[in-house]
Amino acid sequence: MSGTHLSRRSVEQLLQGMDRGEFSGAELTEACVARVREADAALQAFVEVFDEPVAASSGGRLSGIPYATKANIAVVGRELTCCSRILKGYVSPFDATVTARLREAGATLLGVTNMDEFAMGSSTENSHGGPSRNPWHADAVPGGSSGGSAAAVAAGMVPFALGSDTGGSVRQPAAFCGVVGLKPTYGRVSRFGLVAFASSLDQVGPLTRNVRDAALVYSALAGHDPRDATTMDRPVGDVLAEIEGGPAGLRVGIPRALVSEGVDADVRADFEATCEQLRKAGAQLVDVDLPAAKAAVATYYVLCTAEASSNLARYDGIRYGHRAQAQDGAQEQSLVDMTCATRTEGFGAEVKRRIVLGTFVLSAEYAEAYYNKASQVRTLLRREFDAAFETCDVIATPTSPTPAFLRGEKAADPLAMYLGDVYTVSANLTGLPALSVPTACNEAGLPLAIHLTAPAMQEGILLRAGRAVEHVRGFDEDRWTLMEKSS
Ligand code: GLN
Repeated sequence: MSGTHLSRRSVEQLLQGMDRGEFSGAELTEACVARVREADAALQAFVEVFDEPVAASSGGRLSGIPYATKANIAVVGRELTCCSRILKGYVSPFDATVTARLREAGATLLGVTNMDEFAMGSSTENSHGGPSRNPWHADAVPGGSSGGSAAAVAAGMVPFALGSDTGGSVRQPAAFCGVVGLKPTYGRVSRFGLVAFASSLDQVGPLTRNVRDAALVYSALAGHDPRDATTMDRPVGDVLAEIEGGPAGLRVGIPRALVSEGVDADVRADFEATCEQLRKAGAQLVDVDLPAAKAAVATYYVLCTAEASSNLARYDGIRYGHRAQAQDGAQEQSLVDMTCATRTEGFGAEVKRRIVLGTFVLSAEYAEAYYNKASQVRTLLRREFDAAFETCDVIATPTSPTPAFLRGEKAADPLAMYLGDVYTVSANLTGLPALSVPTACNEAGLPLAIHLTAPAMQEGILLRAGRAVEHVRGFDEDRWTLMEKSS
């Protein structure tokens, strides 16, 4: 049994291997930990690898499968930092519902992955613990904010990982690292125990090596939770049952105006190639119009900062983590001074920028012009998507207008970083389910990906379309050969 061999298999293949008695869950965990030790010094995908992996009862549908979780998802008795200095030393007194569900499903938690502080960013460069790297290219970012989770799955350290997605943080790093990323319909997966960034947009989702695995992990995560009043009390359905439905008869909507401008040439050519191959395989390509999507990035950055400024008000130096010490040997400090010093020391630059922006857009003088206006655009956008879905089953765009960029390339230019979210934020603003599927690599050896959005609660058709993309592009089979060539 070779560790490298195991680290390339999908969740489904690993479950079959254990069923056949080829290896045990304990051996698999050992192989993954060995792979982390070998690869993570260079990648920094993990912020913590547990000495004792958190194993669970056996017999569940993910029995014996190792995974990693993002640093903003609560695990009882473990540090929960969101890769922020302000939460240093804060230990979670409870499990997030997703953590508990994976425990019940029998998965083994190996450790915690790196992320942009409080999930604010697209490159994992905003982590208090330092950046992660892209396994395909030493100088490229892995994307963000779930960059550590994406790098860990891509590099064969774990067969799947959890991420959170507020504006693309599961799907964009998945695209940059050549893995699959799913953001479920808002309300499908519980947010209980996910540290809130923007509560009306946040959703937990899996990063996996293929679409079938995304379906498998999603099935373990999804469902009503009395601890999150925004979860839906509706049957999740068997998404694996329809996943092999294939491209024939699938109506794929393409918002032409959105995909023709400001897109990297390789990304655009690859997107056209995927659509064309889907068409040849029997799918029908339909033009759709989403005029409000042009305003989606602006809308998103008004709403997410507004919600963040309110959600992050709780980090006051009293209840959680870091507290600033009194200055110059003083015995005491006032509450205001202490809170102010704690927040000044504890938050990084991007988080402060968002708190300031969010406070501004909510202020009495400006709420009408910004927050209220953005809320209206959000409604408009949802209506446009609903109308588009009258003529198609899924809507396709690239996941990101560029492949993974170089470290430092956008770090000094927040607007350039924000504009990269153009294709992902609409799914959060509308609540719709969306999926990123890798398609190929460009000449520099960087992965490219397609992004699919489906009507609310139609994860079944979304995953079927994603599986169809795998069929026509074959990246799923080629991944490891391509990766060896590029590194
Ligand atoms: N890149 C986006 C942002 O910085 C999305 C982040 C996310 O989904 N958590 O807000």
